[in-house]
Amino acid sequence: MTKHAMQDNDLVRGLTGYLETLQLAGIDAISRAVPSELKPLPTPHPEPIREETMPKRPENIIEQPVVEQPVKTDDSRLDLSSADRTAALRQLADQVAQCKKCPELAAQRTQTVFGVGNPFSELVFLGEAPGADEDKQGIPFVGRAGKLLTDMIEKGMKLRRDDVYICNILRCRPPGNRNPLPDEAACCRPFLDATLQIIRPKYMCCLGSIAATNLLNTQETIGRLRGRVHEFQGIKVVCTYHPAYLLRNPSAKSAAWDDLKLLMREMGLPVP
Ligand code: URA
Repeated sequence: MTKHAMQDNDLVRGLTGYLETLQLAGIDAISRAVPSELKPLPTPHPEPIREETMPKRPENIIEQPVVEQPVKTDDSRLDLSSADRTAALRQLADQVAQCKKCPELAAQRTQTVFGVGNPFSELVFLGEAPGADEDKQGIPFVGRAGKLLTDMIEKGMKLRRDDVYICNILRCRPPGNRNPLPDEAACCRPFLDATLQIIRPKYMCCLGSIAATNLLNTQETIGRLRGRVHEFQGIKVVCTYHPAYLLRNPSAKSAAWDDLKLLMREMGLPVP
């Protein structure tokens, strides 16, 4: 096969994956425009961010004039314009809200919990599943463990919680906060994959064993997975203890801080 034919094949594969993701999110038509002012993605800020230096929020970005540009073909994970990206996430969230693939979860949830944060973030935190507080509010990581996660992000990494993206392996609360069943994780997996296709993070932080083993498709313990950088579809992944575990085992906090510092070094953030 010629070099050009191989490149064409790569392009077709990339385009097909991209279109399948949009289709899963319910999008039938896309715009070709990629406003240049949307790139690069907002990068984490090492210092407290003043209002005027804050990265533009997606709502603002949507109102930017759209500059017609050729569709990029040098990356199989093609760019989504800001409007497409925000719409894709919204429509994916609508699909999740209607999902009844896991009858027990669908019957017992108050609502689905999709994800929260900046859809342009380079960094995605991945948890396990919503708990009681998240089920009530429809937002991931808002209970006690969520407060600790917010501290890890804001006090530890000196980022803003709003500037990262946070989601879970499962988008429904397992009754009694039991662990997600393998079938449930498998049913929810297309939603995670589609979320990642839309956000295209460069870095991920898996919180706890359920997030890490499901994302990386491994049976290794979190103790063995933490402390090093993994790779998942071009994304650099650091695994650490779940904040709920850290609340029960405060002595593990220093290891978790080491993991966050490893992540910060990978991201080029200043490390204290
Ligand atoms: N624990 C999780 O794994 N996810 C949440 O959203 C809340 C608690």
